[in-house]
Amino acid sequence: MPEIRGLATHAAGAQLLPYKYSVGELGPHEVEVKITHCGVCHSDIHLIDNDWGLSKYPFIPGHEIVGTVTGVGSEVTDRKLGERVGIGWQADSCGICEWCRQGDEHLCAKAQPTCIGRNGGYADAIRVNAKFAIPVPEGMESENVAPLLCGGITVYSPLKNWLARPSSRVGVVGIGGLGHMGLQFARAFGCEVTAFSTSKDKEAEARTLGAHNFVNTRENGEIKKAAGSLDLILCTVSADQDFQSFIAMLRPKGTLVVLGASPSPMQISAFSLIGGQKALAGSPSGSPRDLHEMLDVAARHKVKAITEKFAMKDANKAVDKVKKNQVRYRAVLAN
Ligand code: NAP
Ligand code: ZN
Repeated sequence: MPEIRGLATHAAGAQLLPYKYSVGELGPHEVEVKITHCGVCHSDIHLIDNDWGLSKYPFIPGHEIVGTVTGVGSEVTDRKLGERVGIGWQADSCGICEWCRQGDEHLCAKAQPTCIGRNGGYADAIRVNAKFAIPVPEGMESENVAPLLCGGITVYSPLKNWLARPSSRVGVVGIGGLGHMGLQFARAFGCEVTAFSTSKDKEAEARTLGAHNFVNTRENGEIKKAAGSLDLILCTVSADQDFQSFIAMLRPKGTLVVLGASPSPMQISAFSLIGGQKALAGSPSGSPRDLHEMLDVAARHKVKAITEKFAMKDANKAVDKVKKNQVRYRAVLAN
């Protein structure tokens, strides 16, 4: 029986160790992909540490994958051997519910995340439903594309779904993996873009990535000064935040979209939403249809992740650096 070799943690917060698992015959709707690159999303860190209370061990993280198709199931007609594909947060869905039927597979109640209840991409190979293996446009470097498959689509989707346009004033809070791609996409949508960061040293780069304005949130009073200035805020911070102060930054009819997944309950007063007819929303990564579209937009508008490359065997070093907020801006593991 063939084996896939990866890296797994065996307890919350533990180091990643070599781990292999056996796979049987390839399913009729599956593809097997030989992994060349895998991004280190902060969701992998939450799962390694069991921040969300749903991790099962041994756990192989990884859901920002690029690789080459090495196996094609008997019923798969639209993927072929040797093709370069990307795989993001989702590996399968039921295929028949109302959400799957209308191309919103990411909303399927039976959606299967790539690395929850399945073995993820810190490995030499992976198998997924072929629908979730998205062809990567030519001319893009795999290392810079891998982070688009989760981080990229997660910031692209809300810009698309909340109709960002040249008249929109968009704020991106947290200029990490998601945030630095959010600045680029918001600029590509034609918006006025404001970066909010605790890291002063990110200002120059944030501006080259698309920010018209940069707010250092560690400086007293800076968030207050931004009150009533934004139509759409993408909050990508991985830690607890003062969401009330972000609501205050919205203009009337504005929306705060929460993308960062810190585990604590949010504190918001009803009146802060009522007065200006404001909205608070969440947004998950995105459907296969939107992944295709996002990669196409990224290729045409030259949106890409700025990466720090690590050998797959050095995944623990990458994880440590992400935890310390020292990566600029996405760690990518390479086989
Ligand atoms: P990341 O690369 O670690 O970036 C997070 C950024 O947040 C940091 O670079 C930092 O930006 C800021 N930050 C970190 N700790 C902070 C603190 N204590 N206070 C204020 N700001 C802080 O993480 P990521 O991969 O972009 O992921 C961000 C979050 O999104 C995670 O919670 C992840 O699980 C979640 N996520 C959600 C989805 C979804 O479907 N909704 C998809 C992917 C990821 P500055 O240095 O600029 O302050
Ligand atoms: Zn992710």
